[in-house]
Amino acid sequence: MTTPKELIKHTDHVHCWLANVYDIYGDAMGDETETLSCELDDMYHQLEKQYKLERPEVFAKIQELIKENEEFKKECQSRREKEVEEDLKIKEARLEYLSGIWGSVEEKRRLIKEVETISKRLSSGITDEMIDKAKLYPIEKLIEVNKGFALCPFHDDKNPSFYVKNGYGYCFSCNKNASPIDICMEVKGYSFKDAVKFLN
Ligand SMILES: [Zn+2]
Repeated sequence: MTTPKELIKHTDHVHCWLANVYDIYGDAMGDETETLSCELDDMYHQLEKQYKLERPEVFAKIQELIKENEEFKKECQSRREKEVEEDLKIKEARLEYLSGIWGSVEEKRRLIKEVETISKRLSSGITDEMIDKAKLYPIEKLIEVNKGFALCPFHDDKNPSFYVKNGYGYCFSCNKNASPIDICMEVKGYSFKDAVKFLN
Protein backbone atom coordinates (compact mmCIF):
# COMPACT_ATOMS: atom_id res chain seq x y z
CA MET A 1 0.00 0.00 0.00
CA THR A 2 1.35 3.44 -0.93
CA THR A 3 1.56 5.89 1.92
CA PRO A 4 0.25 9.44 1.38
CA LYS A 5 3.80 10.74 1.76
CA GLU A 6 5.09 8.48 -1.01
CA LEU A 7 2.15 9.40 -3.14
CA ILE A 8 2.95 13.08 -2.90
CA LYS A 9 6.59 12.41 -3.68
CA HIS A 10 5.78 10.47 -6.82
CA THR A 11 3.03 12.81 -7.89
CA ASP A 12 5.49 15.67 -7.72
CA HIS A 13 7.86 13.61 -9.79
CA VAL A 14 5.22 13.14 -12.50
CA HIS A 15 4.43 16.82 -12.37
CA CYS A 16 8.10 17.80 -12.74
CA TRP A 17 8.50 15.46 -15.63
CA LEU A 18 5.49 16.93 -17.42
CA ALA A 19 6.80 20.42 -16.78
CA ASN A 20 10.07 19.42 -18.44
CA VAL A 21 8.27 18.03 -21.43
CA TYR A 22 6.30 21.23 -21.64
CA ASP A 23 9.50 23.26 -21.65
CA ILE A 24 10.93 21.23 -24.51
CA TYR A 25 7.66 21.45 -26.42
CA GLY A 26 7.39 25.15 -25.80
CA ASP A 27 10.60 25.64 -27.75
CA ALA A 28 9.80 23.24 -30.51
CA MET A 29 6.18 24.14 -31.04
CA GLY A 30 5.65 27.87 -31.08
CA ASP A 31 1.94 28.50 -31.69
CA GLU A 32 0.81 25.05 -30.73
CA THR A 33 2.16 25.37 -27.21
CA GLU A 34 -1.21 26.58 -25.96
CA THR A 35 -3.05 23.46 -27.12
CA LEU A 36 -0.31 21.31 -25.77
CA SER A 37 -0.51 22.97 -22.40
CA CYS A 38 -4.18 21.93 -22.08
CA GLU A 39 -3.41 18.42 -23.26
CA LEU A 40 -0.63 18.09 -20.73
CA ASP A 41 -2.90 19.33 -17.98
CA ASP A 42 -5.43 16.65 -18.91
CA MET A 43 -2.72 14.03 -19.01
CA TYR A 44 -1.50 15.14 -15.65
CA HIS A 45 -4.92 14.82 -14.03
CA GLN A 46 -5.45 11.45 -15.61
CA LEU A 47 -2.09 10.28 -14.42
CA GLU A 48 -2.83 11.48 -10.95
CA LYS A 49 -6.07 9.49 -10.85
CA GLN A 50 -4.44 6.37 -12.21
CA TYR A 51 -1.57 6.71 -9.86
CA LYS A 52 -3.84 6.57 -6.88
CA LEU A 53 -5.17 3.23 -8.06
CA GLU A 54 -2.07 1.48 -9.25
CA ARG A 55 1.51 2.72 -9.39
CA PRO A 56 3.05 0.34 -11.97
CA GLU A 57 0.39 1.20 -14.45
CA VAL A 58 1.23 4.85 -14.12
CA PHE A 59 4.88 4.20 -14.74
CA ALA A 60 4.04 2.18 -17.82
CA LYS A 61 1.88 5.07 -18.94
CA ILE A 62 4.72 7.50 -18.39
CA GLN A 63 7.02 5.36 -20.53
CA GLU A 64 4.41 5.37 -23.25
CA LEU A 65 4.03 9.13 -23.01
CA ILE A 66 7.78 9.69 -23.17
CA LYS A 67 7.88 7.70 -26.37
CA GLU A 68 4.93 9.53 -27.86
CA ASN A 69 6.34 12.89 -26.86
CA GLU A 70 9.74 12.12 -28.36
CA GLU A 71 8.10 11.23 -31.65
CA PHE A 72 5.99 14.35 -31.50
CA LYS A 73 9.05 16.49 -30.85
CA LYS A 74 10.84 14.94 -33.79
CA GLU A 75 7.85 15.68 -35.98
CA CYS A 76 7.88 19.34 -34.88
CA GLN A 77 11.58 19.61 -35.62
CA SER A 78 11.25 18.11 -39.07
CA ARG A 79 8.36 20.48 -39.77
CA ARG A 80 10.64 23.39 -38.86
CA GLU A 81 13.42 22.03 -41.05
CA LYS A 82 10.97 21.89 -43.96
CA GLU A 83 10.05 25.53 -43.40
CA VAL A 84 13.72 26.51 -43.53
CA GLU A 85 14.17 24.51 -46.73
CA GLU A 86 11.17 26.28 -48.27
CA ASP A 87 12.63 29.63 -47.26
CA LEU A 88 15.92 28.69 -48.91
CA LYS A 89 14.14 27.75 -52.16
CA ILE A 90 12.29 31.09 -52.24
CA LYS A 91 15.51 33.03 -51.65
CA GLU A 92 17.42 31.06 -54.27
CA ALA A 93 14.65 31.64 -56.83
CA ARG A 94 14.65 35.38 -56.07
CA LEU A 95 18.42 35.49 -56.40
CA GLU A 96 18.26 33.72 -59.75
CA TYR A 97 15.66 36.21 -60.96
CA LEU A 98 17.75 39.18 -59.76
CA SER A 99 20.95 37.88 -61.33
CA GLY A 100 19.44 38.44 -64.77
CA ILE A 101 18.62 42.10 -64.21
CA TRP A 102 20.36 45.32 -63.29
CA GLY A 103 20.16 47.07 -59.96
CA SER A 104 19.56 46.15 -56.36
CA VAL A 105 23.14 45.13 -55.62
CA GLU A 106 22.33 45.49 -51.93
CA GLU A 107 19.53 42.95 -52.13
CA LYS A 108 21.65 40.54 -54.15
CA ARG A 109 24.44 40.73 -51.61
CA ARG A 110 22.05 40.22 -48.73
CA LEU A 111 20.40 37.26 -50.46
CA ILE A 112 23.72 35.64 -51.30
CA LYS A 113 24.72 35.89 -47.65
CA GLU A 114 21.37 34.52 -46.45
CA VAL A 115 21.39 31.65 -48.93
CA GLU A 116 24.92 30.77 -47.85
CA THR A 117 24.00 30.87 -44.17
CA ILE A 118 20.85 28.76 -44.57
CA SER A 119 22.63 26.21 -46.78
CA LYS A 120 25.44 25.85 -44.28
CA ARG A 121 23.01 25.58 -41.42
CA LEU A 122 20.93 22.89 -43.19
CA SER A 123 23.96 20.79 -44.07
CA SER A 124 25.50 21.06 -40.62
CA GLY A 125 22.58 19.96 -38.45
CA ILE A 126 22.91 22.92 -36.11
CA THR A 127 19.91 24.92 -34.99
CA ASP A 128 18.93 28.58 -35.29
CA GLU A 129 19.08 28.82 -31.52
CA MET A 130 22.72 27.69 -31.56
CA ILE A 131 23.56 30.28 -34.22
CA ASP A 132 21.83 33.06 -32.25
CA LYS A 133 23.77 32.08 -29.15
CA ALA A 134 27.06 31.95 -31.07
CA LYS A 135 26.47 35.49 -32.39
CA LEU A 136 26.32 36.76 -28.81
CA TYR A 137 29.78 35.43 -27.97
CA PRO A 138 32.11 38.27 -26.86
CA ILE A 139 34.56 39.09 -29.64
CA GLU A 140 37.05 40.19 -26.97
CA LYS A 141 37.42 36.53 -26.03
CA LEU A 142 38.45 35.64 -29.57
CA ILE A 143 40.83 38.48 -30.43
CA GLU A 144 42.59 41.15 -28.41
CA VAL A 145 40.52 44.33 -28.44
CA ASN A 146 41.93 47.60 -27.12
CA LYS A 147 39.61 50.61 -26.79
CA GLY A 148 37.30 49.12 -29.40
CA PHE A 149 40.03 48.32 -31.93
CA ALA A 150 41.87 45.13 -32.81
CA LEU A 151 44.29 43.89 -35.42
CA CYS A 152 42.12 42.73 -38.32
CA PRO A 153 42.04 38.93 -38.53
CA PHE A 154 41.06 39.11 -42.20
CA HIS A 155 44.07 40.91 -43.64
CA ASP A 156 47.70 41.44 -42.69
CA ASP A 157 47.09 44.32 -40.32
CA LYS A 158 49.94 46.32 -38.78
CA ASN A 159 47.89 48.98 -37.00
CA PRO A 160 44.57 48.00 -35.45
CA SER A 161 41.91 48.81 -38.04
CA PHE A 162 39.29 46.32 -36.93
CA TYR A 163 36.55 48.16 -35.07
CA VAL A 164 34.48 46.13 -32.59
CA LYS A 165 31.08 47.33 -31.47
CA ASN A 166 27.77 45.76 -30.38
CA GLY A 167 29.01 42.23 -30.98
CA TYR A 168 30.17 42.91 -34.54
CA GLY A 169 33.47 43.77 -36.14
CA TYR A 170 34.24 46.02 -39.09
CA CYS A 171 37.60 46.58 -40.74
CA PHE A 172 38.27 50.12 -41.99
CA SER A 173 41.11 48.82 -44.11
CA CYS A 174 39.72 45.75 -45.90
CA ASN A 175 36.01 46.56 -45.31
CA LYS A 176 35.30 43.16 -43.82
CA ASN A 177 32.13 42.92 -41.74
CA ALA A 178 32.28 40.06 -39.27
CA SER A 179 30.21 38.34 -36.61
CA PRO A 180 31.80 36.32 -33.80
CA ILE A 181 31.18 33.23 -35.97
CA ASP A 182 33.17 34.71 -38.92
CA ILE A 183 35.97 35.75 -36.58
CA CYS A 184 36.09 32.35 -34.91
CA MET A 185 36.25 30.62 -38.31
CA GLU A 186 39.10 32.91 -39.37
CA VAL A 187 41.27 32.86 -36.24
CA LYS A 188 40.76 29.21 -35.35
CA GLY A 189 40.46 27.84 -38.87
CA TYR A 190 37.15 26.22 -37.96
CA SER A 191 34.32 25.34 -40.28
CA PHE A 192 31.02 27.17 -39.80
CA LYS A 193 29.61 24.18 -37.92
CA ASP A 194 32.61 23.83 -35.60
CA ALA A 195 32.68 27.57 -34.95
CA VAL A 196 29.02 27.60 -33.91
CA LYS A 197 29.58 24.61 -31.67
CA PHE A 198 32.67 26.18 -30.14
CA LEU A 199 30.84 29.46 -29.43
CA ASN A 200 28.02 27.62 -27.69
ZN1 LIG B 1 40.88 43.95 -42.45
